Amino acid sequence: MAMDFQILLPGVPARSDRGALGWCSVVLIRAGDRNILFDTGSPGDRQPLLRSLTEAGVKPGEVDTVFLSHGHYDHVLNVPLFSRADILISRTEWDYLSNGGWQAAGDPFVSELFLEWAASRVGLVSGDEEIAPGVHTLALPGHTPGLTGLRLDSLGVLLASDAVKNAHEYVSRTPPPVFHSEEAALESYQIAAGAAEIIVCGHDRPFRPDADGTAVYVDQWTVEVETADDPHGPVRWLRIM
Ligand SMILES: [Zn+2]
Repeated sequence: MAMDFQILLPGVPARSDRGALGWCSVVLIRAGDRNILFDTGSPGDRQPLLRSLTEAGVKPGEVDTVFLSHGHYDHVLNVPLFSRADILISRTEWDYLSNGGWQAAGDPFVSELFLEWAASRVGLVSGDEEIAPGVHTLALPGHTPGLTGLRLDSLGVLLASDAVKNAHEYVSRTPPPVFHSEEAALESYQIAAGAAEIIVCGHDRPFRPDADGTAVYVDQWTVEVETADDPHGPVRWLRIM
Protein backbone atom coordinates (compact mmCIF):
# COMPACT_ATOMS: atom_id res chain seq x y z
CA MET A 1 0.00 0.00 0.00
CA ALA A 2 1.56 3.24 -1.13
CA MET A 3 1.89 5.83 1.58
CA ASP A 4 3.42 9.25 1.95
CA PHE A 5 3.01 12.27 4.14
CA GLN A 6 3.46 15.96 3.65
CA ILE A 7 3.66 18.76 6.21
CA LEU A 8 1.11 21.32 5.00
CA LEU A 9 1.76 23.82 7.77
CA PRO A 10 5.02 23.79 9.74
CA GLY A 11 4.87 23.80 13.52
CA VAL A 12 6.57 26.86 14.99
CA PRO A 13 8.33 26.77 18.39
CA ALA A 14 7.46 30.32 19.41
CA ARG A 15 5.22 31.91 22.01
CA SER A 16 4.45 35.43 23.11
CA ASP A 17 3.62 37.21 26.35
CA ARG A 18 0.44 38.42 24.68
CA GLY A 19 -0.84 34.85 24.43
CA ALA A 20 -0.36 31.58 22.58
CA LEU A 21 0.47 31.80 18.88
CA GLY A 22 -0.81 28.29 18.33
CA TRP A 23 1.09 27.57 15.12
CA CYS A 24 0.90 23.79 15.07
CA SER A 25 1.97 21.22 12.50
CA VAL A 26 -0.74 20.15 10.04
CA VAL A 27 0.06 17.01 8.07
CA LEU A 28 -1.51 15.35 5.03
CA ILE A 29 -1.18 11.57 4.85
CA ARG A 30 -1.95 9.65 1.68
CA ALA A 31 -2.60 6.02 2.49
CA GLY A 32 -3.56 4.16 -0.67
CA ASP A 33 -6.43 6.17 -2.14
CA ARG A 34 -7.31 7.92 1.12
CA ASN A 35 -6.44 11.44 2.19
CA ILE A 36 -6.05 11.82 5.94
CA LEU A 37 -5.45 15.16 7.60
CA PHE A 38 -3.66 15.16 10.96
CA ASP A 39 -4.84 18.25 12.89
CA THR A 40 -6.19 21.37 11.21
CA GLY A 41 -4.63 24.47 12.78
CA SER A 42 -6.65 27.46 13.93
CA PRO A 43 -8.74 30.06 12.04
CA GLY A 44 -5.71 32.30 11.42
CA ASP A 45 -4.14 29.36 9.54
CA ARG A 46 -7.09 28.88 7.24
CA GLN A 47 -5.78 30.60 4.11
CA PRO A 48 -2.29 29.08 4.19
CA LEU A 49 -3.82 25.67 4.94
CA LEU A 50 -6.15 25.86 1.94
CA ARG A 51 -3.31 27.13 -0.24
CA SER A 52 -1.05 24.33 0.87
CA LEU A 53 -3.75 21.71 0.29
CA THR A 54 -4.36 23.06 -3.22
CA GLU A 55 -0.63 22.86 -3.94
CA ALA A 56 -0.74 19.24 -2.79
CA GLY A 57 -3.51 18.65 -5.31
CA VAL A 58 -6.24 17.96 -2.77
CA LYS A 59 -9.57 19.78 -2.47
CA PRO A 60 -11.13 20.11 1.01
CA GLY A 61 -13.97 17.85 -0.18
CA GLU A 62 -11.42 15.17 -1.06
CA VAL A 63 -10.19 14.79 2.52
CA ASP A 64 -11.61 11.46 3.71
CA THR A 65 -10.58 11.58 7.35
CA VAL A 66 -9.56 14.33 9.75
CA PHE A 67 -7.73 12.94 12.76
CA LEU A 68 -7.59 15.31 15.74
CA SER A 69 -4.66 14.64 18.07
CA HIS A 70 -6.39 16.39 20.98
CA GLY A 71 -8.98 19.04 21.67
CA HIS A 72 -6.93 22.25 21.79
CA TYR A 73 -8.20 25.12 19.66
CA ASP A 74 -5.01 25.46 17.63
CA HIS A 75 -5.37 21.86 16.37
CA VAL A 76 -9.10 21.60 15.76
CA LEU A 77 -10.76 24.83 14.70
CA ASN A 78 -10.59 24.34 10.93
CA VAL A 79 -12.56 21.06 10.98
CA PRO A 80 -15.71 22.63 9.49
CA LEU A 81 -13.80 23.07 6.20
CA PHE A 82 -13.88 19.31 5.68
CA SER A 83 -17.57 18.69 5.33
CA ARG A 84 -17.28 15.24 3.77
CA ALA A 85 -14.61 13.84 6.10
CA ASP A 86 -14.94 11.50 9.05
CA ILE A 87 -13.72 13.43 12.10
CA LEU A 88 -11.82 11.15 14.49
CA ILE A 89 -10.58 11.81 18.02
CA SER A 90 -9.65 9.49 20.87
CA ARG A 91 -12.42 8.29 23.16
CA THR A 92 -10.41 9.35 26.23
CA GLU A 93 -9.92 12.85 24.82
CA TRP A 94 -13.59 13.22 23.94
CA ASP A 95 -14.49 12.15 27.45
CA TYR A 96 -12.18 14.89 28.81
CA LEU A 97 -13.79 17.43 26.48
CA SER A 98 -17.43 16.48 26.92
CA ASN A 99 -17.56 15.69 30.64
CA GLY A 100 -16.01 18.85 32.05
CA GLY A 101 -12.54 17.38 32.66
CA TRP A 102 -10.92 20.30 30.84
CA GLN A 103 -12.67 22.83 33.09
CA ALA A 104 -11.61 20.94 36.21
CA ALA A 105 -8.03 20.93 34.88
CA GLY A 106 -8.12 24.69 34.20
CA ASP A 107 -7.28 24.02 30.55
CA PRO A 108 -7.59 27.37 28.72
CA PHE A 109 -7.11 25.95 25.22
CA VAL A 110 -10.49 24.26 24.68
CA SER A 111 -13.07 26.09 22.58
CA GLU A 112 -16.74 25.73 23.56
CA LEU A 113 -17.64 26.49 19.94
CA PHE A 114 -15.71 23.42 18.80
CA LEU A 115 -17.37 21.24 21.43
CA GLU A 116 -20.80 22.30 20.24
CA TRP A 117 -19.93 21.65 16.60
CA ALA A 118 -18.14 18.38 17.25
CA ALA A 119 -20.76 16.76 19.50
CA SER A 120 -22.78 15.51 16.54
CA ARG A 121 -19.80 14.88 14.28
CA VAL A 122 -16.90 13.09 15.94
CA GLY A 123 -16.14 9.40 15.66
CA LEU A 124 -14.22 7.89 18.56
CA VAL A 125 -11.13 5.69 18.36
CA SER A 126 -8.88 3.98 20.87
CA GLY A 127 -5.19 4.69 21.42
CA ASP A 128 -4.14 1.51 19.63
CA GLU A 129 -6.07 1.08 16.43
CA GLU A 130 -5.52 0.97 12.65
CA ILE A 131 -7.58 3.82 11.15
CA ALA A 132 -6.41 3.18 7.57
CA PRO A 133 -4.05 0.59 6.06
CA GLY A 134 -0.69 1.17 7.79
CA VAL A 135 -1.88 4.13 9.88
CA HIS A 136 -2.06 3.33 13.60
CA THR A 137 -3.12 5.46 16.55
CA LEU A 138 -0.75 5.72 19.52
CA ALA A 139 -1.84 7.00 22.93
CA LEU A 140 0.58 9.70 24.19
CA PRO A 141 -1.12 11.07 27.32
CA GLY A 142 0.19 13.81 29.59
CA HIS A 143 -0.40 17.16 27.92
CA THR A 144 -4.07 16.11 27.88
CA PRO A 145 -5.50 12.75 28.99
CA GLY A 146 -6.37 11.50 25.52
CA LEU A 147 -3.68 13.00 23.30
CA THR A 148 -3.12 10.51 20.49
CA GLY A 149 -0.54 10.43 17.72
CA LEU A 150 -0.41 8.51 14.45
CA ARG A 151 2.28 5.98 13.53
CA LEU A 152 3.16 5.58 9.87
CA ASP A 153 5.22 2.44 10.31
CA SER A 154 6.26 1.92 6.69
CA LEU A 155 7.84 5.40 6.77
CA GLY A 156 9.26 5.19 10.31
CA VAL A 157 7.34 8.34 11.22
CA LEU A 158 5.35 9.34 14.29
CA LEU A 159 3.04 12.34 14.20
CA ALA A 160 3.27 13.25 17.89
CA SER A 161 1.45 16.57 18.11
CA ASP A 162 1.81 18.23 21.53
CA ALA A 163 3.10 15.08 23.22
CA VAL A 164 6.37 16.42 21.73
CA LYS A 165 5.79 20.14 21.23
CA ASN A 166 9.34 20.95 20.24
CA ALA A 167 12.82 19.44 20.08
CA HIS A 168 14.21 21.69 22.82
CA GLU A 169 11.68 20.49 25.39
CA TYR A 170 12.26 16.90 24.27
CA VAL A 171 16.02 17.06 24.68
CA SER A 172 15.85 18.85 28.05
CA ARG A 173 13.09 16.51 29.27
CA THR A 174 10.85 19.48 29.97
CA PRO A 175 7.25 18.32 29.70
CA PRO A 176 4.85 20.32 27.55
CA PRO A 177 2.20 22.34 29.44
CA VAL A 178 0.41 19.65 31.45
CA PHE A 179 -3.36 19.41 31.91
CA HIS A 180 -3.30 15.74 32.86
CA SER A 181 -0.06 14.24 34.24
CA GLU A 182 3.57 15.33 34.16
CA GLU A 183 4.70 11.76 34.80
CA ALA A 184 2.66 10.50 31.85
CA ALA A 185 3.97 13.34 29.67
CA LEU A 186 7.58 12.32 30.37
CA GLU A 187 6.72 8.68 29.76
CA SER A 188 5.17 9.70 26.43
CA TYR A 189 8.59 11.08 25.36
CA GLN A 190 9.95 7.54 25.82
CA ILE A 191 7.03 5.99 23.98
CA ALA A 192 7.42 8.45 21.11
CA ALA A 193 11.17 7.85 20.79
CA GLY A 194 10.60 4.09 20.74
CA ALA A 195 7.84 4.27 18.15
CA ALA A 196 9.60 5.87 15.18
CA GLU A 197 12.81 7.08 13.57
CA ILE A 198 11.36 10.51 12.88
CA ILE A 199 9.09 12.50 15.19
CA VAL A 200 6.89 15.21 13.72
CA CYS A 201 6.42 17.67 16.60
CA GLY A 202 3.31 19.63 17.47
CA HIS A 203 5.09 22.98 17.23
CA ASP A 204 8.50 22.46 15.65
CA ARG A 205 10.37 20.90 12.75
CA PRO A 206 10.50 17.10 12.55
CA PHE A 207 13.54 15.52 14.16
CA ARG A 208 15.35 12.24 14.54
CA PRO A 209 15.60 11.20 18.20
CA ASP A 210 18.95 9.57 18.92
CA ALA A 211 19.61 6.91 21.56
CA ASP A 212 21.69 9.37 23.61
CA GLY A 213 18.67 11.67 24.02
CA THR A 214 19.68 14.23 21.39
CA ALA A 215 17.58 15.41 18.46
CA VAL A 216 18.60 16.20 14.88
CA TYR A 217 16.24 18.18 12.68
CA VAL A 218 15.47 16.44 9.38
CA ASP A 219 13.77 19.40 7.71
CA GLN A 220 14.04 23.18 7.82
CA TRP A 221 11.88 26.13 6.92
CA THR A 222 11.57 29.81 7.58
CA VAL A 223 8.73 31.66 9.25
CA GLU A 224 8.73 35.43 9.40
CA VAL A 225 6.61 37.85 11.41
CA GLU A 226 5.88 41.32 10.08
CA THR A 227 5.77 44.18 12.54
CA ALA A 228 4.84 47.81 11.96
CA ASP A 229 5.49 49.13 15.43
CA ASP A 230 6.61 52.64 14.56
CA PRO A 231 4.29 54.90 12.49
CA HIS A 232 7.28 56.65 10.89
CA GLY A 233 9.69 53.75 10.73
CA PRO A 234 9.97 50.86 8.31
CA VAL A 235 7.84 47.74 8.39
CA ARG A 236 10.18 45.05 9.67
CA TRP A 237 10.26 41.31 9.28
CA LEU A 238 11.39 39.20 12.20
CA ARG A 239 12.71 35.81 11.19
CA ILE A 240 11.86 33.38 13.96
CA MET A 241 13.09 30.08 12.56
ZN1 LIG B 1 -2.17 21.30 22.96
